[in-house]
Amino acid sequence: MTSRSTKARTISGIQPTGDITLGNYVGAISEWKKLQDTTAALFFLADLHALTVERPPGEVYQTAVNHASWLLACGIDPEKATLFVQSDVREHSELAWHMQCVASFGELSRMTQFKDKSESNKFISAGLFTYPALQAADILLYDTNVVPVGDDQKQHLEFTRDVAIRFNSRFGETLVVPEHHIPEVGARVMDLQHPTKKMSKSADSPQGTIFLHDPIKTIEKKIKRAVTDTESDVRFDRENKPGVSNLLTLLSVATGEDIDALANKYTQYGPLKADVAAAWIEIIEPIQKRYAETSTAEVQTTLEKGATKARAIASDVMDRVRSAVNGSR
Ligand code: ATP
Ligand code: MG
Repeated sequence: MTSRSTKARTISGIQPTGDITLGNYVGAISEWKKLQDTTAALFFLADLHALTVERPPGEVYQTAVNHASWLLACGIDPEKATLFVQSDVREHSELAWHMQCVASFGELSRMTQFKDKSESNKFISAGLFTYPALQAADILLYDTNVVPVGDDQKQHLEFTRDVAIRFNSRFGETLVVPEHHIPEVGARVMDLQHPTKKMSKSADSPQGTIFLHDPIKTIEKKIKRAVTDTESDVRFDRENKPGVSNLLTLLSVATGEDIDALANKYTQYGPLKADVAAAWIEIIEPIQKRYAETSTAEVQTTLEKGATKARAIASDVMDRVRSAVNGSR
């Protein structure tokens, strides 16, 4: 094994689909900023995963570079974390094949995300079905200790552990089994127009979704027009008051103040919305400025350096896998 620091290694990815939203910022990017300070972190643009549904030529890579540019503008620091495009490290696909060969058809069939996604797609690719095997490879390729995933990804992490344990029992101790520990993840941001649904970069809800690239005036408008309810009582109650609860969550994340303390401060929705808008504009404006100042060439150079760093780890792990499978030649 390669020598490594005593920090736990973590890995996390984002799919280069759609445009980065406030949900991605709150739930992923701001958490990644903490991880880059406390762990040996790798972050990647999951372009191979994005190919499980049909995409026009060139679009996925272009989106990956654009998302990387936003990640850098948000404060992901390539000096602290390794930022790269998944397909630039070929070992992801190679290890994914091995994972497909130790995974069973039955266990892949039980993955709820496949069931959900295959219902909404006309063309169901085989890749969509074996997606968890690629995700397992993403994690196992870096001897990752901890995987910061949300609730929705728990089943895939369990699958990753199962296939790693099975591989090790067939071929000898080779892969590091990631800890069965799911660190706390960031708050969940809901759609401003449909507050019982998660804000999502691929959802078709332009008025309910705040994109990091939205003009400041648009952000203000979208927040002011957010759906609330017919009462006028400001309190946190996700079930009965999803819209107001979402606004309180957003304000709490932006200011660091406690949700209940914030709820007590307001008696009307108007001032709450105005403060949510002001707090987020203060955060988003400098991000937009940094984004505008970064050239595509700079981002590509950063991604190339990141891929070189990632490859150094991945190629060692892949060498171990090849010798375990093939024996010494
Ligand atoms: P897609 O619609 O393409 O699935 P997405 O917005 O759900 O897009 P993902 O690429 O699936 O984004 O996820 C990237 C990261 O953003 C993940 O860590 C995910 O948990 C987080 N995330 C996505 N949406 C939200 C949200 N509304 N609130 C909090 N975190 C979110
Ligand atoms: Mg998603």
